Amino acid sequence: MKPAEIILKSGKDQSIRRFHPWLFSGAIKEITGNPVEGDVVKVFDNNSEFLAVGHYQPGSIAVRILSFKDIEPDEKFFRERVISALDHRKSLGLIDNRSINVFRLIHAEGDNLPGLIADFYNGVVVIQMHSVGMYRVRSLIAGIIRDALGDKVTAIYDKSISTLPFKAGITGTDGFIWGESGPAVVTEYGFKFRIDWETGQKTGFFIDQRENRKLLSEYTRGRDVLNMFGYTGGFSVYALKDASLVHTVDSSASAITLAEENVNLNYGDDSRHKSIQADAFEFMKNINGTYDLIILDPPAFAKHNRVLDNALQGYKRLNMKAIEQVRRGGIIFTFSCSQVVSRENFRKAVFAASANTGRKVRILHQMSQPPDHPVNIYHPEGEYLKGLVLQVE
Ligand code: SAH
Repeated sequence: MKPAEIILKSGKDQSIRRFHPWLFSGAIKEITGNPVEGDVVKVFDNNSEFLAVGHYQPGSIAVRILSFKDIEPDEKFFRERVISALDHRKSLGLIDNRSINVFRLIHAEGDNLPGLIADFYNGVVVIQMHSVGMYRVRSLIAGIIRDALGDKVTAIYDKSISTLPFKAGITGTDGFIWGESGPAVVTEYGFKFRIDWETGQKTGFFIDQRENRKLLSEYTRGRDVLNMFGYTGGFSVYALKDASLVHTVDSSASAITLAEENVNLNYGDDSRHKSIQADAFEFMKNINGTYDLIILDPPAFAKHNRVLDNALQGYKRLNMKAIEQVRRGGIIFTFSCSQVVSRENFRKAVFAASANTGRKVRILHQMSQPPDHPVNIYHPEGEYLKGLVLQVE
């Protein structure tokens, strides 16, 4: 069937000509052929010049671009893109790595596969589709991953239902596309984590914090550590290597259970660790002088531009509490994973928080996402994770 065609308004082709992988609905003049969510469509400028081919969806992002060449996104096309993503992980040394068997295999726009996430958990690949177009080809993608990884992959689990944007006509459920496995135990720089993709957030683990967790472990010796928004206890497990005490705080009871399980997996029953189910803002009201290292890794405060100001206020309040109360000479690892909060805006929020306390604050490190979460240079929104290591005099 001939793909539907989308014609752009005059002058609205600039971002696509600069290879941005999203076409916003505001740029569209006309759609011919009545595409439905997930259909492959072709995009043309106002003079009928071909620009791109991609997956259509209703809403603000109207097309997720697959190619700027006039190709058919068939099996060969997806195979090349998936193999290129795998080759990148190979060159990073993440495949067949003795101390790391958890990493991101495919990072959507960052791997030129918009809408497709695949994470590797010690043989189990969890795929998560963020567009119906990608969801429709999930079996194809799973087959390609299987072929490419051979016996390194034991099962492929699809966890897309909660992340499909509009879900037109889709009544499926999450589950194994191939093979089967119970929760996996993975190793990251020698630390162990139990991953439950079925019930966990995202695909089960915040793989994107790997290098930042490693960096943390250089700062924990002999320190009293507060891991705020702890989830699976990733930062806590690294800190416990040589910290004096570690407190993990999360508002969710299931997160607290996960953190305790993971601490136990690495250290057994260790009296240096305590987990506390509490709201972060409540908990931080009065921790004056209790900690000399605080980690702030909150969920995305802003999911849309229209709530950006509120989100920045949230980051400011949170960081102010930490900067105010950390012990003299203390360290703060502070993060934002909101896509709409730029690195500069985040830094300004932390600056405003510091200024309100009047304490001397220095930036020791600027953190980001690791290279298995690459950023497509034409898609600045892909740089979602930013963080600062602060030292407070
Ligand atoms: N630092 C974690 C990821 C954090 S995800 C890691 O490295 O894996 C964000 C966590 O914040 C979730 O577990 C969520 O339950 C928790 N959370 C959300 N709102 C909160 C609040 N107001 N107070 C405390 N925890 C909260």
